[in-house]
Amino acid sequence: MIQDTIAAVSTAIGEGAIGIIRVSGPDAMEIVDKVFKPRYAKDIKNWSSHTLHLGTVIHPDDGKAIDEVLVAWMKGPRTFTTEDVAEFHCHGGSLPLRETLEAILRAGARAAEPGEFTKRAFLGGRLDLAQAEAIMEVIQSKTRDGLGAALSQLEGHLSKKIKTIDEQLLQVMAHLEALIDFPEEDLPELSDEKLLSDLENIRTKLEELLRRAESGKVLREGWKTVIVGRPNVGKSSLLNALLDEQRAIVTDIPGTTRDAIEEMIDLGGIPLRIIDTAGIRETTDLVEKLGVEKTRQYMEQADLVLFVLDGLEEITEEEKELLQSLADRPAIILINKSDIKDRRLEEKDIYNLVKKPIISISAREAWGIEELAEKIRHLVFGDEAENKAILTSNERLDLITQARHREAIERALQHIRQMIDAVKLQTSADFLTIDLRAAWEALGEITGKTVGEDVMDKIFASFCIGK
Ligand code: GDP
Ligand code: ZN
Repeated sequence: MIQDTIAAVSTAIGEGAIGIIRVSGPDAMEIVDKVFKPRYAKDIKNWSSHTLHLGTVIHPDDGKAIDEVLVAWMKGPRTFTTEDVAEFHCHGGSLPLRETLEAILRAGARAAEPGEFTKRAFLGGRLDLAQAEAIMEVIQSKTRDGLGAALSQLEGHLSKKIKTIDEQLLQVMAHLEALIDFPEEDLPELSDEKLLSDLENIRTKLEELLRRAESGKVLREGWKTVIVGRPNVGKSSLLNALLDEQRAIVTDIPGTTRDAIEEMIDLGGIPLRIIDTAGIRETTDLVEKLGVEKTRQYMEQADLVLFVLDGLEEITEEEKELLQSLADRPAIILINKSDIKDRRLEEKDIYNLVKKPIISISAREAWGIEELAEKIRHLVFGDEAENKAILTSNERLDLITQARHREAIERALQHIRQMIDAVKLQTSADFLTIDLRAAWEALGEITGKTVGEDVMDKIFASFCIGK
């Protein structure tokens, strides 16, 4: 396929010190030759690869000077797109950038579609699909852990894991084909036990990946969090303490409607999405406004419930009821107002009602907020119930943050589980290969090996222009 040459502004639009226009494709050098007058190395066609050149951009029609720029010349395939690439480092105003881009288009380039540079990198074999997606994640990451996970994916950690499983699947496939081809033969190494243990090994790996996908979802989307409790227990105070503790307020998530504002806060690297339907102060008073039944519904939809109790008051029947309904939900119980000595609530009494992490805090004095953050980390990254240590920082970086990947892993896992059942029932090898192939294809969607053109186009279309 003959590629054309594409161009786009690759930096943010608006006034900046510099703005970069990227040109990629077979005609890149010819286009530079038409629109650029170098001050020194004038023989453009003899430039060495990966060099920088100062000069003037001129309009190809009338030779009129547009901007003084630096051109970075990079010969393929050692470039991002694997094609010949020229980057024009212009002055960052929107007019010089626009005029320079226009000159470049006039000289024969086509305006790039969103994500088209990255798509070419993918088609050129420079990145697989998971890595290409990671680029957008790096750009959009909202917390340090989120950035770490995206970078790790960009470096190919996920792809490597998928590749290992992929190879195991192909081995099983060879095994099955041998069974189909030589059913009569007595091949001791092709026993059902071997097949079963191979499949179980693959299943374990997929389950591990899925676990990372669950934690990764949190990094990407934040944990939908509700603060509940009776009036006056200190919910608003807790919210304020959390807002003070956070490192950075991330702006409203695009696409949320005005009547349901979500605050994203970064609590020690954990993005919490505090859901609020009419202004945080008002709706944290859920029980007061909505009653027990509604509160329970809110708690059911949340990824995390922070249940606040007033340590100076006896527990009420309503509270007991709600606490008990938390049994199988991610929740943390907070006994507030611990700065006052006159305590009526003990942690162990609450623990007898519901086996959840319990922390004594003072929202007003901002005591215990660090401990709360630590408990939330445990819930997100480790299995609190089994008392397992949280993932090491390296493992945390290998989290899977994309819903698309999670979904593909789930599908692959389902087929492997079906195969395991089928082997146990002594199903014929012909049937097994159907599930095996389906599992292999599902995994291939992650790296892009088996993904359809339409899916691919959709992924790249969600990128920004110039990327
Ligand atoms: P909400 O109705 O649950 O949102 O409770 P507020 O946050 O509005 O607090 C109710 C009252 O309790 C206010 O007078 C707060 O000053 C007080 N309060 C909240 N947290 C604490 C705390 O940690 N210690 C003490 N002593 N008072 C608190
Ligand atoms: Zn309140």
